[in-house]
Amino acid sequence: MTGKRNDEGSGWTSSGRPDGGLVYYCFACYATNERERGRCRECGAEISAPKETGYDELLVWALDHPVRSIATNAAGILGARQTRAAATRLRQLATEGSDPYLAAVALRSVVAIEGLSETRDLLLRLRRTAPVLVRATAEKLLGAE
Ligand SMILES: [Zn+2]
Repeated sequence: MTGKRNDEGSGWTSSGRPDGGLVYYCFACYATNERERGRCRECGAEISAPKETGYDELLVWALDHPVRSIATNAAGILGARQTRAAATRLRQLATEGSDPYLAAVALRSVVAIEGLSETRDLLLRLRRTAPVLVRATAEKLLGAE
């Protein structure tokens, strides 16, 4: 990952600043902040995630992260962890997403979570209609039957 979860329960960070300092993404609106916690300079909400936020919840949050590699990695990890709570959002990303790389990873994760029989109709549809990368992924997953 290009980002890492910091130790104190707040959001994902990445070293995007020219001075090498960390950038913190607001848990509420994804705006970048130079501080780890406190009020977001964009939306005024608390920057860090609530303390009780679980790892899977943070991964689901990361699906909409503006750094696409973080979103794509989160999609892959959610599949590996077979996180049921992420299945609906992953389905959306696989079918409606504007990023075909993210969509392809999301599709693989949906299949990992729900199984081939549950996702067969989705795969058949995407094999016909999706962007080429997603189509190829659907084809491959159907071939694994
Ligand atoms: Zn914010």
